[in-house]
Amino acid sequence: MSEKANIGVIGMAVMGSNLARNLAHHGNTVAVFNRSYGRTETLMKDHGTEGKFIPAKTLEEFVASLSVPRTAIIMVKAGAPTEATINALADVMEPGDIIVDGGNTYFKDTIRREKAIRARGLHYVGCGVSGGEEGALNGPSMMPGGTAESWKTLGPILESIAAKAPEDGAPCVTHIGENGAGHFVKMVHNGIEYADMQLISESYDLLRRGLGLTPSEIGDIFAEWNKGELDSYLVEITEEVLHHTDAKTGKPFLDIVVDHAGMKGTGTWTVQTALSLAVPVTGIAEAVFARGLSSRSEQRDEAASKTLPGVTPHIDVADREAFIEDVRKALYASKIIAYAQGFDEITEGAKEYDWDINLGDVARIWRAGCIIRAKFLNRISDAYDSGKMTSSLVFDPYFTKSLGDAQDSWRRVVSAAALGGVPIPAFSSSLSYYDGLRSDRLPAALVQGQRDFFGAHTYGRVDEPGVFHTLWGEEGRKEIKEDDSAAYTA
Ligand code: NAP
Repeated sequence: MSEKANIGVIGMAVMGSNLARNLAHHGNTVAVFNRSYGRTETLMKDHGTEGKFIPAKTLEEFVASLSVPRTAIIMVKAGAPTEATINALADVMEPGDIIVDGGNTYFKDTIRREKAIRARGLHYVGCGVSGGEEGALNGPSMMPGGTAESWKTLGPILESIAAKAPEDGAPCVTHIGENGAGHFVKMVHNGIEYADMQLISESYDLLRRGLGLTPSEIGDIFAEWNKGELDSYLVEITEEVLHHTDAKTGKPFLDIVVDHAGMKGTGTWTVQTALSLAVPVTGIAEAVFARGLSSRSEQRDEAASKTLPGVTPHIDVADREAFIEDVRKALYASKIIAYAQGFDEITEGAKEYDWDINLGDVARIWRAGCIIRAKFLNRISDAYDSGKMTSSLVFDPYFTKSLGDAQDSWRRVVSAAALGGVPIPAFSSSLSYYDGLRSDRLPAALVQGQRDFFGAHTYGRVDEPGVFHTLWGEEGRKEIKEDDSAAYTA
């Protein structure tokens, strides 16, 4: 009998073909299939000798070439094409087989699909894959959901191709939780990525328009920052982008790029989900809104032509080096807030959807392979592993101290930017979130008073349990306790 494949990949575009090659490089026998055979032929022609591949022309042939339980990873266009491929595959697979969706699928779709596929006796695993095409080939960070039983088969295969953390060589993949847990965590990963990129961009703007440094000078600063607590993939690539010169014009690359930031939706999902869970993810939300504002060409053009009143962006400082260090500290503090908020969202999502998610493991599998990989994730996994974590990362002693150390710098940067007309929505909202969290009394008491005035929405008292309402229209403004119904008619 001819050899069977222990894993299959459907979709031979960039992500799927790279993932298939990565699997083959690690001793797996990989069945490969693409809707149009041309892409499969290209893979076999260019890379067929890199490992063991079994190319298939039809889905039936593909399924027949897989060993039991048949395990197939789908890497086709997200949305309807993925849905159609899942259904076609389920039709030709058998109970006990495993369908893996490696695309960026909305977690509620994954929950729905998992239920439908499970009803047919198959396993459905929504698996977040981060790291882009390079990661797919050389080691991505992966966030699979689905059943614990499917993980028994899938786990060793994914561990073989995952990125390995530089500190301990651990594979950057773990079983996140049931049904949509993997895609939920991947969604929040992308939300944090938005916040991190926005904070880095605001730092650049403070140094560029604020201090008047060149992109290349700022690139040198980011290179320095990457040697310390900010050590991360995003800071590393920022340095490269800042040092890049446009071949056509000889100008800094950044100056020839249209300043409208694109997005594909995962950041928006993170914020929408956070809103429905009532989790303040201010850093992520400001990052999504900032991309939105950047792309509102009509309004920006009108603002430019009508010259909205304001200062020309600049920052006056007596000691430039000291201010650059302030920006570095403010970036670190704001980044801590963004990650703390992202982990809060995962915590609340796990409660809402009944997932048992190990947050230390989540931080651990983000240490390599993914876009937000950073040295500081070790601090986050340490915090969760300590067994002393309370309700937020900001209360972990290391992070509390870091926020305290950065505090004066953070405030100087936010106030200097406001005075100098440099927009820093993520920096300032992170500081406001921090100050809100540590406030003894918030103006929410006034909001409650207003709500009770116009809508009889009631309020609680600080000195007595119960629910209260003030009869605002009545003379003397009598207060009644909600359960004291007699008072209404009195
Ligand atoms: P893509 O451009 O999103 O999709 C192209 C692939 O989808 C081709 O194999 C194409 O087959 C197939 N396809 C399109 N419509 C189809 C249909 N109706 N039925 C069956 N197959 C269909 O490819 P990609 O960039 O490699 O991404 C694949 C998946 O990975 C996506 O879901 C994406 O969200 C996810 N992802 C991408 C990245 C990234 O960095 N690019 C990172 C993580 C996850 P044909 O060749 O026949 O047209």
